[in-house]
Amino acid sequence: MEYEFDLVVIGGGSGGVRAARMAAESGARVALVEARELGGTCVNRGCVPKKLFVYGARHAHALHDAAAYGWTVDAPRFDWKTLVANKDREIARLNGIYRRLLGESGVELVHGFAKLADAHTVLVDGRSMSTERILLAVGGAPHAVAIPGHELAKTSDDLFHLEEFPRRIVIAGAGYIGIEFACIFRMLGAEVHVVQRSAEILSGFDDEMRAFLRDQLQVEGIHFHCGRTIERIEARDGDGICAHLDDGAVLSADVQAVATGRRPLTRGIGLEEVGVEMDARGVIPVDDEYRTNVPNIFALGDIIDRLPLTPMAIAEAIAFVSTQFLGRPQTIDYETVPTAIFSTPTFATVGLTEEQAWARGANVHVYCSTFRPMKDVLPDRAGRSRIKIIVDERDDRVLGVHVINEDAAEMVQAMAVAMRCGLTKKQLDTTIGIHPTVAEELVQMRQPVRTGVKKEHR
Ligand code: FAD
Repeated sequence: MEYEFDLVVIGGGSGGVRAARMAAESGARVALVEARELGGTCVNRGCVPKKLFVYGARHAHALHDAAAYGWTVDAPRFDWKTLVANKDREIARLNGIYRRLLGESGVELVHGFAKLADAHTVLVDGRSMSTERILLAVGGAPHAVAIPGHELAKTSDDLFHLEEFPRRIVIAGAGYIGIEFACIFRMLGAEVHVVQRSAEILSGFDDEMRAFLRDQLQVEGIHFHCGRTIERIEARDGDGICAHLDDGAVLSADVQAVATGRRPLTRGIGLEEVGVEMDARGVIPVDDEYRTNVPNIFALGDIIDRLPLTPMAIAEAIAFVSTQFLGRPQTIDYETVPTAIFSTPTFATVGLTEEQAWARGANVHVYCSTFRPMKDVLPDRAGRSRIKIIVDERDDRVLGVHVINEDAAEMVQAMAVAMRCGLTKKQLDTTIGIHPTVAEELVQMRQPVRTGVKKEHR
């Protein structure tokens, strides 16, 4: 059977664009279908606009601290609409770059919402495209918990486009997206409340570090309501929108936001009819080659829910094309992947948490240093930084590095390289630091704070 295409990619986000370009550059006939803007979540509703907001928000600290360094900064004012408009202009520029790169690679770009008619046919607005392989890279969307009144709340998608800057905001959910937005709005001057069902923020991250981060964010003035749930949200005349908590508290705000998770956009696009398996949340199981249970249909990125991060979607796309089109089978190692929460201060991490290290039976040395960065001394900032390193006692291997500091992401990226090369604590100890930096602390931690016994550190 002769197909029109060798590959049709559904979804022009981080994973889909990379896969389409690479496959087309190898000589394959490739079409990419995108329903919205090119670049997907990362460029339009995720990493990029979020980081631009973080940069904008952190100017609050810089402007405040400037006086201690001798500057006179007269009455700085912040204009939300300018930040939003400039962010949108940058995103439009990136959308254009994605379009150009796809064109230059020879990918046929099809604008519209794709559905599968059968395992070899993709339908877009009445056009039928036959293809040997299909790659699903449709990503996800915010998923609001079903509480009465949740339709009054904004999702992370909406927060990038608020008409007015909120004086008060309540955010339900203290995962990384909730925490990042809490910091952005707080730094820009809002009163911020975060409501979190579990006892601590950022579940899954190192216990000691996430508790420390919450302390730092409280120093910045964020109000946490941990161990609490929102029972209903309602609009009240003259008093904004109210969240009613399970302990009877009422938090009124200009904006109620939900950051309670994301779900794959895998429903209603013909996958059930074609027989592609997925779980109750819409997550698609795949094998090491990103193949679904239907042999010519592949899936990657957020919809396979391995590590829902942009660099992972891109790495999976590269592995998929190498294996399917270049004759160079490639698999991805999901261990030792660095990641950051762009809170203020940033929390970056690579490798195992202390809890994971114990659970794997490692006998660990834990090194932990809490300090005030030199930059914060003259302005007399109350916040602190922390670096924590977890080492396997048996072979001296560094198992995990966790850093809370403004520059944590830059430090941890470099540490991830060393850890993938088998970094030992002895190698850290014999490395010379750059003075004066925060990063030199990584190579100057001599005494473990805990060792060899199960942790009881709270
Ligand atoms: P996406 O990038 O979501 O792309 C999917 C595309 O498919 C979309 O453009 C969508 O319109 C399209 N689509 C869906 N259905 C169809 C259809 N039926 N037909 C045609 N097109 C369709 N990751 C990081 O690594 N670092 C960060 O700092 C970071 N910050 C984030 C902040 C926020 C607020 C959010 C929400 C996410 C963040 N992420 C971050 C996660 C990152 O954005 C995702 O992991 C990444 O975008 C996933 O890429 P993907 O290719 O799987 O899907």
